[in-house]
Amino acid sequence: AKQAGRGSLRRYTRKLKETAARHNLLRGRLRRAVDHGEFTLHYQPLVDCQSGRIIGAEALLRWFDTELGTIGPDQFIPIAEESGLIAPLGEWVLDTACAELRHWHNPLGTLPRISINVSGLQLLDHRLANALDRVIAAQGLQATQIELEITESALMEREAAGLPLLQHLRELGVGIAVDDFGTGYSSLAKIKHMPVNVLKIDRSFIQDIFTDSDDKAIVIAILALAKQLQLKVVAEGVETEQQLQFLQEAGCDLIQGYIFSKPLPAKDFRKLWAKGVAD
Ligand code: C2E
Ligand code: CA
Ligand code: CA
Ligand code: CA
Repeated sequence: AKQAGRGSLRRYTRKLKETAARHNLLRGRLRRAVDHGEFTLHYQPLVDCQSGRIIGAEALLRWFDTELGTIGPDQFIPIAEESGLIAPLGEWVLDTACAELRHWHNPLGTLPRISINVSGLQLLDHRLANALDRVIAAQGLQATQIELEITESALMEREAAGLPLLQHLRELGVGIAVDDFGTGYSSLAKIKHMPVNVLKIDRSFIQDIFTDSDDKAIVIAILALAKQLQLKVVAEGVETEQQLQFLQEAGCDLIQGYIFSKPLPAKDFRKLWAKGVAD
């Protein structure tokens, strides 16, 4: 047993070292990537649950490093946060998404709404509000076309400190969505007093609607609550017809997921938007 214990300890230590090494490698390259602009945005359609019309898109960061290949945001966002790179990176996302969006007119002449992910750290920083003011003026956009997504847990952690900024943004007309809703253990009483107008039900609940009766009950409860509080609801990670039908019947507002489209390069999203409906 002692032998085995020592073996697994050694394996564990090696794993830790590997993880730390990967972390250091990514941190070093990330700084360079921010300076050299090695990022692109993909856009995933947000679709009206009842009509099937696309109303906008969520911008999702992609990083391609020439040696390491494609690195997912789940891997590099935490590193960007701890190394102070999230502010410049977040500003780049906002600038780029708004600059691209400006050229996307559908046959009716409307532009899509854009959802931008925001790290909790950005809530403590006036650079975000300044960047929004600047980009809205520079691109000639309306504040109501922009929505910021903040995870439920980030929102709860920075509840007090982030509140004035969120309030200010809501007053300007910027949408505020609670991302990954249902995973952060916030109390509904609290949400009621937050300056938010959208709840995004976390993918994990949608995935298990038909296999976990608790998850089904939670989705139904969120939809009922949201109606009471006059919040819009987006279901994320919708993959099957069955899930879509359930959400339509339950009165969900918007849908996002592979059933309509994966996140797309800008030029592909633009084509889809010009057609008006997801196929
Ligand atoms: P998120 O905000 O919850 O974004 C949704 C994630 O679910 C995306 O992963 C998307 O590709 C994926 N997804 C969408 N539909 C489906 C589906 O039907 N099935 C499945 N299995 N997955 C689906 P992605 O692009 O890898 O992003 C991961 C996370 O990285 C995001 O989660 C977000 O928290 C973070 N992130 C991405 N871009 C940014 C950014 O610009 N800034 C910040 N702060 N975070 C970002
Ligand atoms: Ca999101
Ligand atoms: Ca989410
Ligand atoms: Ca997530």
